[in-house]
Amino acid sequence: TRLQDRDAPVRETDNDALLARLSAVQKGYLKDPFVHFFVPRAHLQQPRPPLINIGTWVRSESIDRLVDAWLDLCESERKQCQIISLGAGSDTRFWRLATSDRSKSIAKYVEIDFAEITTKKAMPIKKNKDLLAVLGEPNDVALTNGGTSLRSPTYNLLAADLRKPPVVFLEPALVGGTPPLVDLNMPALLLFECVLAYMQPNESSAIVSWFMDCFRGSAPIGAIVYEMFGLNDPFGRVMKNNLKVECIQLPGAEPYTSYDSLPRRFTAHGFKLAKALTLKEIRNSRLPAEDVERNLRLETLDEVEELDLVLDHYAITWGANWPDSEDNVTSKW
Ligand code: SAM
Repeated sequence: TRLQDRDAPVRETDNDALLARLSAVQKGYLKDPFVHFFVPRAHLQQPRPPLINIGTWVRSESIDRLVDAWLDLCESERKQCQIISLGAGSDTRFWRLATSDRSKSIAKYVEIDFAEITTKKAMPIKKNKDLLAVLGEPNDVALTNGGTSLRSPTYNLLAADLRKPPVVFLEPALVGGTPPLVDLNMPALLLFECVLAYMQPNESSAIVSWFMDCFRGSAPIGAIVYEMFGLNDPFGRVMKNNLKVECIQLPGAEPYTSYDSLPRRFTAHGFKLAKALTLKEIRNSRLPAEDVERNLRLETLDEVEELDLVLDHYAITWGANWPDSEDNVTSKW
């Protein structure tokens, strides 16, 4: 139990991410008809400061765009794909995708988190007819493993500690059953949204490498990481004070502290393509200027200079091992 106690603050970050999303939705930055189902007394929650709302928007919007680009790639090859979200917390992306015109492209969607989090997430899913209807017929949806996991034809929620060796938790859970949950002949996209910072580098590396080994030669694999970096520079403290609500980082846990090192998460494991952009770069040059402007009109942002300072310390890194021409992948993603 001492170990569990040590993990409590890490699990608590899910609530922070969830409330940040709720706040961005309530203030009009994001559209998400599902988030409030996961927040008890959603209407009573305090909104987050504008700076956090803008950060949440940039993060969410850019990951959405990368997921879209991945689905474009799969659709251009007439392939369905599977999405595996590690440290998924209370994320609503599955429901948003499954109710969009992309739903047919997704054959499997697997979410993994600590048992405490998956148990908490399974409850509203099982009880709420809006969430449940998206999963299929009521009889197709089952709570398993003492309520820590949930099975349905497409969506699957699994409890596991990601720090364990992947052969111990991923292999039996994903490819060990009959039929296996994950199809090694179908393109797979891995999502690591604000989760790798809570692990030791060798642990996160083991996960990426396990997936690479499993899919090597059989199907394309893609991955998206959202994380904080560069904590050791002079601005680290400013950023930490502002955003510790979102992402607390374990001392010494992160080797990818410089911008240039971020793509190595993937290139070190043989990914053909790996790129990283900071949220500042994404906001300034990748997201439509009219959306950036529109969001500035939603609330009064006093900390204009701080915003760039903070966004400059968060990055999205993506990698793809798509067997066809690299240009094809690079141009689309
Ligand atoms: N990905 C979600 C999002 O962006 O909204 C949640 C992010 S939250 C900041 C981090 C999540 O990672 C938490 O739900 C936490 O429980 C989970 N997590 C961290 N370390 C983990 C581990 N070793 N095993 C399983 N889940 C873990």
